Amino acid sequence: MSSEPVCLACGMQYAAPRADCPICDDERQYVPPGGQQWTDLATLRADRRPRVEEQGPGIIGIGSDPGFAIGQRALLVRAESGNFLWDCVAYLDDELVGKITELGGITGIAISHPHYYTTMVEWAHAFDVPIYLHEGDEQWIGRPDPSIELWTGTTLDVAPGLQLINLGVHFTGGTVLHWPDGEGGRGALLSGDIVQVIPDRTHVGFMYSYPNLIPERPNVVRHAAELLEPYAFEAIYGAWWDAIVRTDGHNVVQRSAQRYLTYVA
Ligand SMILES: [Zn+2]
Ligand SMILES: [Zn+2]
Repeated sequence: MSSEPVCLACGMQYAAPRADCPICDDERQYVPPGGQQWTDLATLRADRRPRVEEQGPGIIGIGSDPGFAIGQRALLVRAESGNFLWDCVAYLDDELVGKITELGGITGIAISHPHYYTTMVEWAHAFDVPIYLHEGDEQWIGRPDPSIELWTGTTLDVAPGLQLINLGVHFTGGTVLHWPDGEGGRGALLSGDIVQVIPDRTHVGFMYSYPNLIPERPNVVRHAAELLEPYAFEAIYGAWWDAIVRTDGHNVVQRSAQRYLTYVA
């Protein structure tokens, strides 16, 4: 199906028509000045095409041209155990399913936080795979489905060589993906909005709300930095096309958390 309503501002697909979008009503997003508006996948397909581009070794960006809503792109991680989809985008059509199938399909989907849940159920059905979401964000699921598997705790080995880490930044369930075999064995962190890649690639940012400029709580940032301390990673793949820290990722995160805590304490 492709007629379920999709929020024009955030890309969240809901199971049935409704007046409001809880994601956009939340202070981490916003209802645009013109008010709440809806579209659907069939409408989006009329004037968009898939965008598939290599972003780094074994990492392929997935999105649409032009982009849509928040504008993030998903990442196809070409792990030894199979392709895994990190984060999600609202746009999906037969051409994109075909391109990904040619690349070997996907074995599962994990999403950093609710802003990128979008049409995840369409993706799960197209590839007949599970979606792994942290249970801390269960309340934000717009379209419940048996393909959704909620996980609990701080880490989950979601596939061989791929570990999810719940950092709790930005959302309670805010999660990053660590791929130790990424970047030619030097490690990659796929971070969504949880560890935000910013214009200065020697640092990253941490915010509770990006559009409304509400800083993350210091104890949450401190805890996230402690959780990431044991992990080795050279690259950090943020939420946007080309939002990528190419070198020294581990130290970039630790240095940025220290800087943050000198300003926000
Ligand atoms: Zn919305
Ligand atoms: Zn977000």
